Order: sequence, then C-alpha cells, then structure tokens
Amino acid sequence: MAKAAETQKKVVAKKVKKPVAVKKKAGSKKETVSLMRYKCRICGYVYSPLRGEPHNGIPAGTAFEDLPDTYLCPVCGFQGKGKIGKWGFEEWRPTRYICSMCDYIYDEKRGEPHRGIKAGTKFEDLPEDYVCPVCATDPKIVLRYGNVLKQGFSPLYD
Ligand code: FE
Repeated sequence: MAKAAETQKKVVAKKVKKPVAVKKKAGSKKETVSLMRYKCRICGYVYSPLRGEPHNGIPAGTAFEDLPDTYLCPVCGFQGKGKIGKWGFEEWRPTRYICSMCDYIYDEKRGEPHRGIKAGTKFEDLPEDYVCPVCATDPKIVLRYGNVLKQGFSPLYD
C-alpha cells in the first residue's frame, strides 16, 4: 500500500515537473512554446531550439526558455554590439522559405494565388504534396532529382 502511494507520488512529481508547454495565441493555432524560435533584436540572429548551439555547449532541443540567465547572443559580441542577453530577444517565426534547388522563395504574405494558395497561407499549412513551382517547370531538375517538396525548403532568417 505504502509502495503504491509512493509510486503515485512519483508520478505526480513527474507531471508537475513537465508542464504542458503549449500556449494559445489570439487568432492562431496552438503553438508549442518549446519549439519557438527567438530573434535578437539587435543583430537579427535567430535562436532555434531544434538546432541549439552545440558549439557553445547548448544541445539541440533546448528551449529558449530553458537557456541559462547568463546566455548571450553569440553574434552580437563578434559584431562589437556588446553583451545582449535573453532580454534582447523576441519570439520569431519565419515567413519566407527558400527552395534549396533553385532559390525560389515561398512568401506567406504573397502565397501562390495562381495555384490556389491564398495569400497568408503559412508554410506549414501547405499541402504535403506541395512542390516548388519553379523546379517543377524544369524537366532537367525533375528528371534528375524529382519534384522538390516542402522538405527541400529552408526558412529565411532575414
Ligand atoms: Fe525550386
């Protein structure tokens, strides 16, 4: 009996330790806070939790919120802009994505109205079978590499 109670306590403790890291934003879907990118307001450097900063001892998968209070923007120092801490960062998500094959840029603001993708359509909301419209018109690329899907795009950080 005592053992069972102890086990239960442990479970509860575990639950308390790991709060659901989901935040609701007005007018948008639930967003996982821990995956949120943050941008330095001074130099534009973007901290990505998926990447972390392994060269600075911050493993991939570290949420911005979990960075130590001593964290400093790794770029600002080199640029002579001083020591910019977490206070100098703001939430950021990319709105433009570039095709790694041809440099075509998908811009959420613009969408692709001629293909039935409304302006304002988020990149992650594009259909899974979305292909780069420019690469698709180049038979050499299609023959050699196949169509360039969403995975073939990377976010633009400027
Ligand atoms: Fe392309």
